[in-house]
Amino acid sequence: MISVRYIVVTGGVMSGLGKGITAASIGRMLMERGYKVTAIKIDPYINIDAGLMSPFQHGEVFVLKDGGEVDLDLGNYERFLDVELTRDHNITTGKIYKSVIEKERRGEYLGKTVQIIPHITNEIKERIRNVARESGCEVCLIEVGGTVGDIESMPFIEAMRQLRNEEMGNIAFVHVTLAPTTTDGEQKTKPTQHSVKEMRSLGLQPDIVAVRCTRPLRDETKSKISLFCDVPVEGVVSNHDVDDVYKVPLLLEEQRTPLYLMKMLRLYPLEHRTDWVELIEKMVSINDSVKMAIVGKYTAGSQGTTHMEDTYLSIREALKHAGIGAGAWPRIAWIDAEDLEHNPPEEVLKDVDGILVPGGFGARGTAGKMEAVRYAREKGVPYLGICFGMQLAVVEFAKNVLGLKEASSTEFGETPHPVITILPEQEGVEDMGATMRLGNYDTELREGSIAKRIYGKDLIVERHRHRYEVNPDYVDEIEEKGMIFTGKNRNRMEIAEIPDHPFFFSTQFHPEMKSRPGRPSPPFLAFVEAMKERAGTRG
Ligand code: GLN
Repeated sequence: MISVRYIVVTGGVMSGLGKGITAASIGRMLMERGYKVTAIKIDPYINIDAGLMSPFQHGEVFVLKDGGEVDLDLGNYERFLDVELTRDHNITTGKIYKSVIEKERRGEYLGKTVQIIPHITNEIKERIRNVARESGCEVCLIEVGGTVGDIESMPFIEAMRQLRNEEMGNIAFVHVTLAPTTTDGEQKTKPTQHSVKEMRSLGLQPDIVAVRCTRPLRDETKSKISLFCDVPVEGVVSNHDVDDVYKVPLLLEEQRTPLYLMKMLRLYPLEHRTDWVELIEKMVSINDSVKMAIVGKYTAGSQGTTHMEDTYLSIREALKHAGIGAGAWPRIAWIDAEDLEHNPPEEVLKDVDGILVPGGFGARGTAGKMEAVRYAREKGVPYLGICFGMQLAVVEFAKNVLGLKEASSTEFGETPHPVITILPEQEGVEDMGATMRLGNYDTELREGSIAKRIYGKDLIVERHRHRYEVNPDYVDEIEEKGMIFTGKNRNRMEIAEIPDHPFFFSTQFHPEMKSRPGRPSPPFLAFVEAMKERAGTRG
C-alpha cells in the first residue's frame, strides 16, 4: 500500500466556479488509472451539517448512506468516483469547533490555552487523515469551500499549509480561478494574479491553476498566468465552459492535467480504463428526447434557473443517467406548483410525457402538486413521485378515489383523515438537526410488482430523509381501490404504485441519491422508458 497522496483544491476570485466538479474530474481520471480515490469537502460555515440549510442558498441537501446530510458536492463525488461516502467526508467549522470544545470540557488539553493554532488546525488535519485512512484510499481529494482569503476559511487554509509541510512530496495544490473576458474578447489575468498573491501571503503556492473562462484559454493568457503566478505552463489549465459537466474530465485529460499531477506525486498509471470516455460517447450520440415536468416548490420566479436546478441536482443527474440508459434525453420543464393552483393542468402540463414530483416540506404548493398527480393518474401520464411526491400521491388517491375529501398529511395540521402521519419515533422530537429518518434502510419488494420487475431483486437498500409516512391504518382501504404498496420495511410503506396505469410509481426513499452515470437508478430508468414509449405512441 502506498502512502496517501493528497490533492487540495482551493478557489479564488469568487465562489461558484465549480471547484467540486474540477476536483471530481481530476479524481475520476486518477481512478481510471487504477488508483483508489476518495474526497473530502470542507465547508467553512458554522453549521454542523447541511441538514437545516435552505436549498435556496446552497442547493439540495445530499443524504449519505450513514444518514449524513451534506453539501451537494458530496453527491458529485459519489457520482464521479462511484463511491459511497460517509458524513465524516464533509468537514464543517461547526463540527471542528464542537469536537474541540468537547475535548476541552473533558480536560483533554491538560490545562493548556486552547487556540486556533494548534488545536483547531490539529483537529482538522487529524480528521482528514482519519477519513483517508478509514476509506483505504490512495488519493484523497480535499476541496476547501469558499474563496481563499475569506475569514471563515483561514483556519482550514492554515491547516493545509501545515499539511503541506508534513506531507511534502505527497501533496499537490490546485487553485481554481476565473479569467473574465472583456467585450473585445481579451482574457484578463489580473483577478487570477491577485488570488494567487493572496494564497501566497498565506504560505501556499498552487501547483496547478485551473482557470475558468468562457472560451479556451489562449496560449498568451496561459503564458502570462504561468509567469505571474510562478506555475509552469503545463500547470495552467484551461477550465473553460462546456455544455455538460461530465465533459470536464475529458477537458482536463486533453491538457494532460491528470498525468502532470501524477508525475508530481510520483504515481504511475497502473491501468488505463476508458469508462468515462465511453460514457460521454454514448451520451453525445443520443438524438431522441422526451419532454417532462418537475413540479416543485422552489422553482418560483426570482430564484433563477441555475439555482433551481441546484435545488434538485441529484434528480436532474439521475434523469441524465436514465436518459443515457434509455437512449432518450429528458428535457425538463420546471413547473412551479403554485402555477397549477391558478391554471388547469390540462394547460400547464399539456405536452409533457411524464411528471415528477420531488421531495419537499410544508404545505405551500401542495394543492398544485396534487393537481399534477391527479392529472398524471387520470390521463395515464407516466408519474414518478419521490418522498413527498409519494406522500402526496397517496393523499390525492385518498381524496379523489377513496372519496375522503379531507384526507391530508399531519405535516400540514390536524385532519380527520391522516393518511400521511408522523413516524411514531418522531413524535416529540424537538431537536431538528439530523433527527429525521435518514440514510440507508432496506425495502422488501413484492412478487409480481413493477418494483420487483425494475429492480430485479427481492431486497433493496435506498436512502431516506423524512419525518412522515403512510398511515398503516389506511393501507387496506387504499390497496382495495388499486394503489398498492409493493415495497415495505416491516410495516412501513416504501413504495406505492398503481398497476392499472402505464407507469405510476412512487417511493418514500430517494433513489436519485444512488444513481450513477452508467448505472442509472431503476425507478428513473423505468420512468424515462415509460415516457419514451408514450412519446412514441403519440407520434
Ligand atoms: N415532508 C415530508 C416528510 O418529512 C417529505 C420529506 C421529503 O420529501 N424529503 O416526511
